[in-house]
Amino acid sequence: MTSASLLLKGQTAIITGASRGIGKAIALSLAEVGAEVVVNYSSSPESAKEVVSLIERLGGKAYSVQANVSNESSVEKLINTVLEKSGQINILVNNAGITNDGLLMRMKTEDWQSVINLNLTGVFLCTKAVSRTMLKRKQGRIINITSVVGLMGNAGQSNYASAKAGVIGLTKSTAKEFASRGITVNAVAPGFIKTDMTKDLHADQILSAIPLGHFGDPEHVAGAVRFLASDKAASYITGQVLQVDGGMVMS
Ligand code: NAP
Repeated sequence: MTSASLLLKGQTAIITGASRGIGKAIALSLAEVGAEVVVNYSSSPESAKEVVSLIERLGGKAYSVQANVSNESSVEKLINTVLEKSGQINILVNNAGITNDGLLMRMKTEDWQSVINLNLTGVFLCTKAVSRTMLKRKQGRIINITSVVGLMGNAGQSNYASAKAGVIGLTKSTAKEFASRGITVNAVAPGFIKTDMTKDLHADQILSAIPLGHFGDPEHVAGAVRFLASDKAASYITGQVLQVDGGMVMS
């Protein structure tokens, strides 16, 4: 690898929910261009360790840290651990997310709350926790993984769609708050991506709504995140939502 391709050398990136799926692909992609990657996970230590080993085998730098990012003290511990070990946080990718689907009339309040707590409040907690160090250094990239469902709504996912729409509002607001301090905040909105989260969906119905005619791979999302994390290429982009959805939602 040439030094020119190590775009993120010397930078530390935290990726929440990086033990599987899209988060894992983002971790590999940022490590490939030189970032030291913090692989956060909640309940899969073995999978997180595998991601770290994979990165190390490819010549990159990584370590894993357990944290439930919907819990404030857990998030504070995560950030303090990273600051102690790495001394800096340059990139935060708020990726961890869950679904807990059901029609609104039958949705239990706890099913609403669990999704809002992780998918929206988790983004707030992690952003707030890294903001002090990023504001002090006058440098940082925050990339929030939202969803096209946050743009278009989805029957059976009122909790998830609300959280993901909230993430878009949060992205734009923090982008405005942090812009004068050299920190950009953007969102990536995937469509349907092949991961554990989508493995039980009925493909036929969904495929007909995707102009490119197929589901996306985690690497498609990782490519967009890598672009937004890159120092020069994306330095004049903030408060934006980049859709990676095969053309599913065109506005
Ligand atoms: P996934 O395969 O189900 O992986 C979810 C990840 O989140 C896992 O690494 C999991 O860690 C972690 N996680 C769960 N609860 C957590 C918590 N409380 N604290 C920290 N980490 C936690 O999901 P995915 O499909 O890759 O989705 C990643 C993101 O993309 C989510 O925000 C999702 O909403 C969004 N997205 C996905 C799609 C899609 O089609 N797949 C589309 C649009 C948006 P453990 O392994 O430790 O449980």
